[in-house]
Amino acid sequence: MPWGSIRGHDQVVETLRAVMHSGRVPHALIFAGPEGIGKNAFATRLAQALLCTRSPEHRLEPCGQCPSCLQVQAGSHPDLLRVAKPEDRSELPIQAMRELCRDLGLKPMSGHRRIAIIEDAQTMSDEAANAFLKTLEEPPPGAVLILLTTSTELMLDTILSRCRVIRFEPLNESDLADVLIDKGLAASPQEARRLAHWGDGSVERALGLADPSFLKARRELLDALAHPNGFDPSALARDLHEFIQEAGKEATLRRRRAALLLDELARFFRGVLWCNAGLVPPTPDPDDHAAIERLGTRLEPEIVFLLAERCLEAHYQLERMAYLPALWDALACDFDRLLHASASKSVQ
Ligand SMILES: [Zn+2]
Repeated sequence: MPWGSIRGHDQVVETLRAVMHSGRVPHALIFAGPEGIGKNAFATRLAQALLCTRSPEHRLEPCGQCPSCLQVQAGSHPDLLRVAKPEDRSELPIQAMRELCRDLGLKPMSGHRRIAIIEDAQTMSDEAANAFLKTLEEPPPGAVLILLTTSTELMLDTILSRCRVIRFEPLNESDLADVLIDKGLAASPQEARRLAHWGDGSVERALGLADPSFLKARRELLDALAHPNGFDPSALARDLHEFIQEAGKEATLRRRRAALLLDELARFFRGVLWCNAGLVPPTPDPDDHAAIERLGTRLEPEIVFLLAERCLEAHYQLERMAYLPALWDALACDFDRLLHASASKSVQ
């Protein structure tokens, strides 16, 4: 039952149970997988199982009722340490990593071990990773380090080689719909199924796309890009900027909306590539097909590939805290140049 609310990752639970039954608690784990699929909730549940005072840890079944389990649930267990990238920074601060290493070395307050959950591990600078390496090589007795990452490719080999990497798959539609209902994020099973279809395995993405104003702006943007008469790049950049600003006063909300929009653009151009290849594009919205076909018949695949790549580049710049008005300006200009490049096929 305690794993019951963790949906879609039963295989990982079984793998970890097998490891625990062999009598060895791994001292360092990397949970790798896309954003918004429950890695953090899973890590917290694992910490609860390892700190539970009633259930033997090799069973990985936290009782959910002992003081230790309740403290983990409340986020107040003194032996469960966490570090995450601040929302307004592009990297995990080295100071936070140093403090974590120091705290891990202290005697456990209530149990027999300390556990650290390190979020956004792919944003660790080389300097922070090196500061962390000594703890990883010689962890304090009983310590368990759980690193969460969306990309092992962005992590140093010296870190990866000292951890057991566990891959988390995106949730399937049925599990995602259940998670949305469990968390009270969908008003009805029908709503949950609709959002799960759009979500492509991620709770975060499903919720972002549940916003009607986002869907409207998305539709207008994709139709503008595919319009045969082209578009005014300055006006497009201005509209994008205004729409992102409307997400709210907090920079985090604006950046989250910008990330989702860039993700949608990259997916849209991927759909055009599928169309180029004569395949049915994998888009959740049937209204995308007209725009995709219009571009698919007009553009060479090489150009579509550059457009998709340009979206990923903008995403990377966004993560590096790029100045947003400049990002939209440059993106709109490049879209205009690429969409109307001489390499485009003549209109049939
Ligand atoms: Zn317990």
